[in-house]
Amino acid sequence: MNNYEHSVFLDVKKCIGCTTCLRHCPTQAIRIKDGHAVINEKRCIDCGECIKICPKKAKKPVCNKLKDLDSFKWKIALPAPTLYGQFENMDDVDYILNGLLKIGFDDVFEVSTAAELASAYTRQYLKRPDVVKPVISSACPVVLRLICLRYPSLKDNIIPMLPPMEIAAMMARERAKKNHPELTDSDIGVCFISPCPAKASYVKNGFGSYKSQVDVVIPISDIYFQLINAMEHSDDIETLSKSGMIGIGWASSGGEATALFNDAYLAADGIENVNRVLDQIENDNIPPLEYIELNACTGGCVGGVLTMQNPFIAKAKLQTLRRYLPVSQNFVKNDEIIPEKYFFEEIPTYYPISRLSESMSESMRMMAEIQKLRDKLPGIDCGACGAPTCRAFAEDVVKGTAKLSDCTINYRSELLEYLKTKDEDCDSN
Ligand code: SF4
Ligand code: SF4
Repeated sequence: MNNYEHSVFLDVKKCIGCTTCLRHCPTQAIRIKDGHAVINEKRCIDCGECIKICPKKAKKPVCNKLKDLDSFKWKIALPAPTLYGQFENMDDVDYILNGLLKIGFDDVFEVSTAAELASAYTRQYLKRPDVVKPVISSACPVVLRLICLRYPSLKDNIIPMLPPMEIAAMMARERAKKNHPELTDSDIGVCFISPCPAKASYVKNGFGSYKSQVDVVIPISDIYFQLINAMEHSDDIETLSKSGMIGIGWASSGGEATALFNDAYLAADGIENVNRVLDQIENDNIPPLEYIELNACTGGCVGGVLTMQNPFIAKAKLQTLRRYLPVSQNFVKNDEIIPEKYFFEEIPTYYPISRLSESMSESMRMMAEIQKLRDKLPGIDCGACGAPTCRAFAEDVVKGTAKLSDCTINYRSELLEYLKTKDEDCDSN
């Protein structure tokens, strides 16, 4: 599947080709060509690292605007739990939920409510005798795409459960139709208030054959000031929140895994750490664990690029907020069957980024050529050729997307060698 719709965009006019993003892209999706960055769409996982790091703000998230909801009769806000950690002196989530109604939403459905159900269902899923352990969380869309592209052998470890955002969207739609039978599906607009652009990619592309129930994704940063203003003018607030510590805990790394009440888990955050853990699982080099929670952003969703608050401060704020909450407000019975609609049927197949060619013999030949070329290169990963490492540059040359002369250091030493030979020839004549 190559027609993947991304949510990270490069504004070429702003890019100065400084190579900063080149060194930070976890999948080596960026090259510098003709003086500016170029993103290889097949490799990009929409992690947003390049948005965070670009000094010229040339990389941008592609999300919706609030006005994209105008065409819907009934507008539902799905606030990510991360939103709750963005405000000063917040001791009651209901201020935020009432604020969302004030700025024009007809209903609010907390993603943390669905997260509590997802935690309960995951506890049941882990008891099944046939599941492949360790089970890997499916909540972070960046990690899902990374596994599909780079670790396809771990696809069976992914829990095939939809993320809380999708479960919340389904439940919110069901509630709207129950309370307002006059509404049709197309009258209802579901808007996820997101900490990261990868959620927008998830909504645009679905997952396998699953089509998202969310219509619009807007950044937390786009709605933040409007919401503060609405909250300041909220005196009489209605009790709307229906989630507890568990649901809100999903915003930070470790929150999802601790909700399983099972010590055999690992929670890692930050894309480099995620890669390390996946490498170790793939190499069967981890202790026996039941569950692996992986978040591409540092600190978990609180570290998403579309947030307003330092992730560690947001995490501290959420801890304070959680103190006033019950453990959970959403339960399932021990023997309750997990509804089929909360599962996705298939994990998408992408062309693995490590594969050099369709044919095994051609791949082997290319690999040998890459190794030979790599030995000729300076090995200092300077980035001047436009590739992040000498290894990546050698691969580009072998694939025919770069020329050996793009390596200025190699070019210079070859030139010097040539001039030296010339001089020697002249001397001998
Ligand atoms: S960080 Fe990347 S996108 Fe930003 S200016 Fe430098 S090369 Fe261009
Ligand atoms: S979003 Fe992530 S994977 Fe995509 S180009 Fe930027 S850093 Fe690389």
